Amino acid sequence: MQVHDSLIPLMGNTPLVRLRSVTAGLSGQVIAKVEYFNPGGSVKDRIAVRMIDAAEASGALRPGGTIVEPTSGNTGVGLAIVAQERGYRCVFTVPDKVAADKVNVMRAYGAEVVVCPTAVAPDHPDSYYSVSDRLAREIQGAWKPDQYSNPENPRSHYLSTGPEIWEQTEGRITHFVAGVGTGGTITGAGRYLKEVSGGKVKIIGADPEGSVYSGGTGRPYLVEGVGEDIWPATYDPEVCDEIIAVSDKDSFVMTRRLAREEGLLVGGSCGMAVVAALRVAERAGPEAVVVVLLPDGGRGYLSKIFNDEWMQNYGFLSAATDEAKVGDVL
Ligand code: PMP
Repeated sequence: MQVHDSLIPLMGNTPLVRLRSVTAGLSGQVIAKVEYFNPGGSVKDRIAVRMIDAAEASGALRPGGTIVEPTSGNTGVGLAIVAQERGYRCVFTVPDKVAADKVNVMRAYGAEVVVCPTAVAPDHPDSYYSVSDRLAREIQGAWKPDQYSNPENPRSHYLSTGPEIWEQTEGRITHFVAGVGTGGTITGAGRYLKEVSGGKVKIIGADPEGSVYSGGTGRPYLVEGVGEDIWPATYDPEVCDEIIAVSDKDSFVMTRRLAREEGLLVGGSCGMAVVAALRVAERAGPEAVVVVLLPDGGRGYLSKIFNDEWMQNYGFLSAATDEAKVGDVL
């Protein structure tokens, strides 16, 4: 029988899919690495299993222990899936800008979730970083993976995401584009692709306007999971050849186009990364093979990005746009 006893071996090995519609007018290829095919629905399954394996091996996480982590949702789901199978408790902290749907998903997997204010400095005692530190101190047997400093985060991408892309493109990739949150994806996969290609593959980070990676001050933006107001240890700026800043509006409009035109129901950081990838492809010419990583699926964003009223309230979708006009006629 073809039966898997666990979801864990099914993490990674996600497919590449060519973008055919949003690329109209471009001569090069833009190819998406679609991470929602992971069992937990996002790229973060990769780091979850590797961080837990390493903590078990070092003794930092012991049988019956508790995993405490600040997470915008995806890392939480990956950790919760592995924790279930191995008998750990999960306590996660999230900033309150994270969609309620995503919080409910983590709770559905059995995790406990503490919602913290977004609009406070990272070192404020109420921030989701500080609250996770406090809980990790207070709960007995607690282990904090800390995806912002854990070397297993970039390493998981160096060992899985990068090699997969190289093999799947038969070494023909010319540019790799990914959003930067913890920086684990771009640092790990980017470093591998640079090394294996002898420096030929260009590595481009996509960042929300306002975030520190593209020179901002950390002012608020709405796209989730990417951008930072601090510089995490998991991000190595040496790996990136360039950072492209993308506005919330461009990110969300592209996210909706990916669902309508490409059949890819994905999250807002995916739209952001695709906008950056199209800008790269535009100037790279006909030989370009641009691979863009799409971190998660779109079902956690139905009440935001895919909700017309929410989009209109922020001025991201005006009644005058073509998309709204079609809706009005139907
Ligand atoms: N998009 C989403 C939706 C995410 O949750 C994350 C992870 N924070 C990223 C992009 C960025 O990935 P990384 O942390 O590897 O930079």
